[in-house]
Amino acid sequence: MERVLIHIHGIVQGVGFRPFIHKQVRDFRLAGTIKNTSSGVELELEGERPELERFLAELPRRAPKLAVIERVESVFSPELKHFQDFRILSSRTEETRNTLISPDIGICDDCLRELMDPADRRYRYPFINCTNCGPRFTIIRDVPYDRAKTSMSEFPMCPDCDREYHDIENRRYHAQPDCCPDCGPHVFFLDAAGKPTDGDAIERARDALRAGAILAVKGLGGVHLACRCDDPSIARKLRARKHRDEKPFAVMCRDVECARKICAVSAEEEALLTSFRRPIVLLQKREKGALTHLSENNYIGVMLPYTPLHVLLFGDDLDMLVMTSANLSDTPIVYRNDEALSRLRSIADGFLLHNRDIQTRCDDSLCYCLEGEAYFARRSRGYVPFPVSVHEDTGMLLSCGAEQKASFCLSKGNYVFPSQHIGDLKNMETLEHYQQQIRHFERLFDIRPTAIACDLHPDYLSSAYAAARSEEEGIGLIRVQHHHAHMAACMADNALSGRVIGLIWDGTGYGTDGATWGGECLVGGYDGFERLGSIRPIPLVGGDLVTREPLRVAWALAHDAGLPTAEENGALYETMLQNNLNCPHSSGMGRLFDGVSAMLGVKTRCSYEGQGAILLEAAAAADAGELPLDFTDEDGVLRFDWRAMIRAMAEEQRRGTSPDVLSARFHNTLIRLAVQQCAYARERSGLDRVVLSGGSFQNMLLMHRLPEALRREGFAVYRHRRVSPNDEGLSLGQLMIARAVLERK
Ligand code: ZN
Ligand code: ZN
Ligand code: FE
Repeated sequence: MERVLIHIHGIVQGVGFRPFIHKQVRDFRLAGTIKNTSSGVELELEGERPELERFLAELPRRAPKLAVIERVESVFSPELKHFQDFRILSSRTEETRNTLISPDIGICDDCLRELMDPADRRYRYPFINCTNCGPRFTIIRDVPYDRAKTSMSEFPMCPDCDREYHDIENRRYHAQPDCCPDCGPHVFFLDAAGKPTDGDAIERARDALRAGAILAVKGLGGVHLACRCDDPSIARKLRARKHRDEKPFAVMCRDVECARKICAVSAEEEALLTSFRRPIVLLQKREKGALTHLSENNYIGVMLPYTPLHVLLFGDDLDMLVMTSANLSDTPIVYRNDEALSRLRSIADGFLLHNRDIQTRCDDSLCYCLEGEAYFARRSRGYVPFPVSVHEDTGMLLSCGAEQKASFCLSKGNYVFPSQHIGDLKNMETLEHYQQQIRHFERLFDIRPTAIACDLHPDYLSSAYAAARSEEEGIGLIRVQHHHAHMAACMADNALSGRVIGLIWDGTGYGTDGATWGGECLVGGYDGFERLGSIRPIPLVGGDLVTREPLRVAWALAHDAGLPTAEENGALYETMLQNNLNCPHSSGMGRLFDGVSAMLGVKTRCSYEGQGAILLEAAAAADAGELPLDFTDEDGVLRFDWRAMIRAMAEEQRRGTSPDVLSARFHNTLIRLAVQQCAYARERSGLDRVVLSGGSFQNMLLMHRLPEALRREGFAVYRHRRVSPNDEGLSLGQLMIARAVLERK
């Protein structure tokens, strides 16, 4: 007999870990104790050495699926304490303080089997769930998490469900949202006028979809608009009604086989699609240029059914449906029944709704699959409100994010809780949603921030919120430069300390000199930074207008490069430029992408953010050529002077080189730019770790090649893994910088 002391670090509290350990200890016939610690759990066990070792070996493989085991330390000792049984050591206060809240979980295989079993009492019941699956975050009103504090409080359990709930051997033991047709919620189908219809609601909806209708379908975190995707005219009708001209639609496929009909699906992508988190995964189209009514680029966002209602809606004959968030022009996703009926009246031909309320909006998560893991464009349903663990104790802090892709983070010790996707704060309703979610998270996780971090931008509504709260509550406000925050976010994402090189490419961010930045090479750490590289500022003729009219950027690039331009508004632009009228300059990489995209005729008018860059990426041919790469050295800042590149590009265009080839060469040139700026930064600083952050790194052409190109030159390269590289991931960096600033004080 021996005794072993085991420390398990990671996210192991509030995920069913202790009941799991209890069962394991019983199976291995061991004795001892377990207790929560600030960074995980501590176990003390006694038994035969081989049994103890087997217990340790099996631990990671058998752990509950929400648990994240980061490190296991074990120390064996021959001195026994002679435990007689297994005890959970805990205090009540600690129980409530450290409980995590589960994200919503896609339907599990066991529930799927019962759903399709005519002999089961939940046969075809659209709200079937269990301890391992079902709604969580989106139905919780308050903590501690039990049925009375969720949307299920209106549905008292019937005796059968109650029995399952209290039976420790049952797979619905302590499943708060558990219910059945006798005691739980139900679905109904309303016609275009919002009038109830007779018959089986799901069959009515299926008939309508087959006939080409656009339906509002209530999901977990909000309402979707659904329609057939095989008929371009139906998708066009939806675009017209939703005023969404060009932005890609997500598609829900019945299963992976159906997804393969339109996209290539690797084994790794399949694992991500079928995971219990069920994100939308951006998959490469089978045929370049196909299905443009769904997506104008090379990818289609695909997800699988994640609620029993979705499963029933598809039946065994519908293969795939457009499933796009129901919202109108930048307002948050519709999530209440009354709201769906009033706001979607002009869009939907029918409504498949139910009477289980959604408490909290949560959009679908969106990601690429990169090296076998999710690479986020949006971290939301299925992931939120789970924390990201960080390597430093943060105390309790709030960081307020950026503006267009707003998010916030709240922290407690080594846990940082990033919010779900919020949206653009310039919309009034979105701003209210943002403020309300900050309060909601503070209550759920019992966090009272002692300081607030926000962006340096004086006009961001998130900064205004932060300033007002700091004033009201008399707590510190730390303003963080945008690209410094991106850099710190990627550092924290990879648990890095010390100093690194930060290659930060994005659209726009407020610089320390008041100018607009966005193609930056920084050197520093959480406690500060220095700017060593950038790009030649581009005049933005007409300010914010350029994001919709990238031809203005193309004109400025050509004009600055000394090229003749055919632009009809050229004279006007020239006057604006000379008199400095609404002509801010920007070193944003996103703007360079927009301008080149417009110059090559790939995209000359944009209807959503980043469109020019996305289509330029999509256009790129397989070509290894490059364009001239010039630099200027301005007081130690190595600036990419793109004028020679633009002149060469214009010359190639004149010679008839295709935009596809020039797009490829533009990307190749940027990769060399990155390598040279990092080499310069290494020379100056002696550092060789590079973090990649900013919205431009959602470009998969760059992500598949740039890290490799840097590694070949001897750099250690880090990219985002747990939060998004775009502005949504920024709040994590703000928070870590605030922590460093406070520590220094
Ligand atoms: Zn289940
Ligand atoms: Zn029941
Ligand atoms: Fe940014």
